[in-house]
Amino acid sequence: MASPDNPTQPEASGRRRFTSVRRQIDRITMINRVHAALRSTLNVDDLHSIILTSIISRSALGFSRALLAAYDETTNSFRGIAALGARNRAEHDRLQKEVAAEERSIAEMMRHLDGLDATAEEQSLLRNSMDELTQHSFWITIYQKFGANSELLDAWKKIELFCPRPSGDGDARSGMEFVGQLIEKPGSQMIPREALEKSDLPAELIELLPGASVWSIIRTNKGPRLAVIADRCHQREKLDELDLLHMDWFVGQVALALENAEMVKDLEEAYNDIRALDQLKSNFLATISHELRTPLTAITGYVQLMLGNKIGELSPGQREVLERILAHSDLLTGKVNDVIEIAELESQQARRVQLHPVDPLNVLMHTLPRLEHRRAHKAITIEPEVTAPVPEVMATAITLERIYFHLIDNAIKFGKVEGYVKVRFERDGKDLRLSIIDHGIGIAPAQIEPIFDLFYQVDSNLTRHYQGMGIGLAIVKKQLDQTGGRIQVSSQIGHGSTFTIIYPVA
Ligand code: ADP
Repeated sequence: MASPDNPTQPEASGRRRFTSVRRQIDRITMINRVHAALRSTLNVDDLHSIILTSIISRSALGFSRALLAAYDETTNSFRGIAALGARNRAEHDRLQKEVAAEERSIAEMMRHLDGLDATAEEQSLLRNSMDELTQHSFWITIYQKFGANSELLDAWKKIELFCPRPSGDGDARSGMEFVGQLIEKPGSQMIPREALEKSDLPAELIELLPGASVWSIIRTNKGPRLAVIADRCHQREKLDELDLLHMDWFVGQVALALENAEMVKDLEEAYNDIRALDQLKSNFLATISHELRTPLTAITGYVQLMLGNKIGELSPGQREVLERILAHSDLLTGKVNDVIEIAELESQQARRVQLHPVDPLNVLMHTLPRLEHRRAHKAITIEPEVTAPVPEVMATAITLERIYFHLIDNAIKFGKVEGYVKVRFERDGKDLRLSIIDHGIGIAPAQIEPIFDLFYQVDSNLTRHYQGMGIGLAIVKKQLDQTGGRIQVSSQIGHGSTFTIIYPVA
C-alpha cells in the first residue's frame, strides 16, 4: 500500500498501523451503510445524492470532495451535474466536527434507550428504528449540510467532457483522449496532478482539482451513465491504494443500484404508456358508440312508424322484413349500449355509488322481459328458485338489473338448446347469494379468471360458434366493484356453470 511517510521511524509506523486498523473497521461499517443506503431507493435523483454523500462521508469513503457528471447520449459526453464538498480545509474540518457532534448525540440517545420505561417489545422497536436511523437516512441528511460551494458547482456544471466516437473520425475535442483512456481501462483510476496537467482536459477542470484525484466511470447494461471524481484536497491524508479499492467496490455497487433504478423507470414508463393507450381506447369506444347510437335510434324509429302503418298499409311480406330489421336494430342497439356502458364505467373507475335496500326478486322480474327475445330460438325456461322469503340487499336496482341481464344472457347463450336456467337465492349469514345456474358448455378452470377481462372470450376465433364481444362479464365485474358486491364461479366443462353474486343483506 502506498505510504507517503518514511517507514524507518518506529513510533510513527506504530501510530500508522493503529490508524490503519481503525480505518479498516470504519470501512467495514461503511460497506454496511453504503449498501443499506443504495438499497433504500429506486429513484435516480436520490441515488445521485447518496453517491455524493457516500464519497465524502467520514463514515463511508471519506474523501474531501465529490463531483458527479451524467452521460448524455445525444452529445456523447459527460456533463457536470452535482458536487459536494467544503470550500476549504477550515470549513471541511468545521463541518466534519458538526457531523461528529450530531453522531455523538445520536449515540447518546441510543445509550439512554435502556433507561427508558418501555416494554421489551417497545425497547426492541426503538432500537430497530434507531439502528435504521444511524444506518442510512441520518448520515445522508447530515452530510447534506456540506452542500457544494457555489463556485465549485457553477464551474463544474459548465464542464462537458466528450467521449471519443466509435468511428474515430479524427474529431478531437478537449478531453476526448483522456476520457477515451478512462473508458477503456476497467475500474477506478488515480490521476496525479501532474498527469492532469499533461492531459488534454479543459483548463477550467484542471483548475478545479488542486491535487491527485480518483476517477471512475459508472456503467449499466445500457452503457456509460456517470463519471465520478473524488479527491482529498482538504485533508492531510493523501489518496492511497485503499481509496482506489474502495472506490472500485463502491462504483460496482452504484452500477447495480442504477441498473435497478433504470429498470423501475423503464417499467414505469411502459406502464404509463399502456395507461395512456387504454385511455385512448376508452375514449375511442365512447365516441364511436355515441356516434352509432344516433342513426340507430333513427332507423328503429322509422321502422316502428312503418310497422304502425303510419306511412301506409304494409303487405305481410313487407311487415316480416321490417320486423326482422327491428330485431337486428335492437340487437345492435344493445351491443352499442354495452360498449357505451363499459366505456363509462372505465372512465369513473374508483367511484363508489350510493347503495340502498333492493328487492332482488323484484329486480329479476323486471329484467326477464328484456331477455325474452334472447332465448327466442331456444326452448329454455328461466326458473327462480325460492324456498324462503328473499331479503333485501344493499345494492342499486340498476346495477343488479345489469348484472342479471349479462349473466342470464350468457347462461342462455352458452346453455343447451333445450333446458332451463335457474336463479337461486340463498341466505348465508349476513349475505345473500344469488346464483345463475346453467347446464351448458361449461368453462375450463384456467379460463375462469380471464373471462372477466374486457374483450376476453374463451373461443375468440372469427369462426366461433357463439356471438359476442367479450364485454358482458367485464361490465358485471365493474358494477360489482362499484357497489361492493362479489362474484364466484364454479363450472365443469360439458356440464354447466354457476355464477354466484354475493351482496350483504340490507
Ligand atoms: P361474450 O358473452 O359477449 O363473449 P362475456 O364477457 O359475457 O362476453 O363472456 C366472456 C366469455 O366467458 C364468453 O365468451 C365465454 O367464453 C365465457 N362465458 C361466460 N359465461 C359463460 C357461461 N355461462 N358458460 C360458458 N362460458 C361462459
